[in-house]
Amino acid sequence: MILETAREQVLERGEGLDEAQVLEVLRLPDQDLPDALALAHEVRMRWCGPEVEVEGIVSLKTGGCPEDCHFCSQSGRFETTVRAARLDVPSLVEAARETAATGATEFCIVAAVRGPDARLMADVRAGIAAIQSEVDINVACSLGILTRDQAGELAEMGVHRYNHNLEAARSYFPQVVTTHTWEERWDTLQLVREHGMEVCCGCIIGMGETLEQRAELAAQLAELEPDEVPLNFLDPRPGTPFADLPVSSPEDALRTIAAFRLALPRTVLRFAGGRELTLGDLGARQGVTGGINAIIIGNYLTTLGRDPQQDLDLLGELSMPIKALSETL
Ligand code: SF4
Repeated sequence: MILETAREQVLERGEGLDEAQVLEVLRLPDQDLPDALALAHEVRMRWCGPEVEVEGIVSLKTGGCPEDCHFCSQSGRFETTVRAARLDVPSLVEAARETAATGATEFCIVAAVRGPDARLMADVRAGIAAIQSEVDINVACSLGILTRDQAGELAEMGVHRYNHNLEAARSYFPQVVTTHTWEERWDTLQLVREHGMEVCCGCIIGMGETLEQRAELAAQLAELEPDEVPLNFLDPRPGTPFADLPVSSPEDALRTIAAFRLALPRTVLRFAGGRELTLGDLGARQGVTGGINAIIIGNYLTTLGRDPQQDLDLLGELSMPIKALSETL
């Protein structure tokens, strides 16, 4: 059966599951879920170690995005409660300082845009310079689709990791976004890699995709070989086209975590948005003992997360050390 194959292939040899194998894991009955999570945990401990990477995120520019990603409350095309806002440099530095104080090693500056314009690039440059002079933390960015020149500029500013999510499988992407293509996202990810920045590429589970498409997405992520994959679960936001989609069941979410870990044995697999909604308080525990080895601490971009201390206490209780900054350089 698939978990026996995975034990030999993924745990022993470090070779991720392929698309068909991921699909088998996604189809496992609930009674096999504890075994799948236990194996995913063993794989994570063997190929990534016990450390958990902690990251904070801040929104430099919120709302008013021209794109139409159907899950996103920051699109200016939908009637949502998110209001356009922009952060100044001192607030950015303060947010970086607060994030570093939790023990986090990554601080990600996010902007709701199709891609950066000259003003945003200038703001990011000023923000990164100020953070680097005052706070000991890696700076990551998530600024949408990049040109080759912009990728070069960000690398030269010292951006350690760049986030750009594929969000969905290639075959399902046109049901999620119509204002840009999956291929444009893929091309940006290649530019990020070419310029020596770490590649962070995530997805959202529970947007109406089939299990086949979820397996396809895992295979496409494995092909990309990202350094980090933030796994989001759809939190259906009022006013967006996906507002009425059902929330993933905890079993479904946990099975997906296990399956993605078995497809990506060495990747930093991060619990990102929607976990509180899908998994509740228990989710953090089951996730970090089921294949997850990184968390976003504090609040997400437009929704509230858990109290950071709750997550830090949990890691202490599970004897999972927070990854130190020196190990990430
Ligand atoms: S590009 Fe980003 S901010 Fe804009 S609508 Fe899509 S997900 Fe939201």
